[in-house]
Amino acid sequence: MATVSKSLARKALKTFLREKSNDGEEASCMRVALEEFLEEVNKGRSYHRPVCTACQVEMYPEKNGVGVLDMADFGPASLWDADLWQCSKCGLQIVSGFGNNPISRHHEGERFEKFIKNYRDYSLIIESR
Ligand SMILES: [Zn+2]
Repeated sequence: MATVSKSLARKALKTFLREKSNDGEEASCMRVALEEFLEEVNKGRSYHRPVCTACQVEMYPEKNGVGVLDMADFGPASLWDADLWQCSKCGLQIVSGFGNNPISRHHEGERFEKFIKNYRDYSLIIESR
């Protein structure tokens, strides 16, 4: 399971705010709830953002929930969910924050294809060879 970052929680909060009207009190309650949720999820986990070796700065999450497709000789083998990180100075991008297991594997057939299509349509697919 990927570690949930504060930026991901902020993204969730932004989505919540966009969906709601300007109800400040409710937004405040939601923020507190998200922070409690994060503490619980990340309890006991060490967490450090990736660091760009060239620029010696922490990278930031450019996009959460990208698909990484492991390619085999026969074609796509397994699909993983991860986060795309970027260096703010040099623009170097890496993928990190993988879950413990793939979301889907090729032997799942249609289900596998559907997941790949969803990542292509709504996020990003990165092939890993
Ligand atoms: Zn850099």
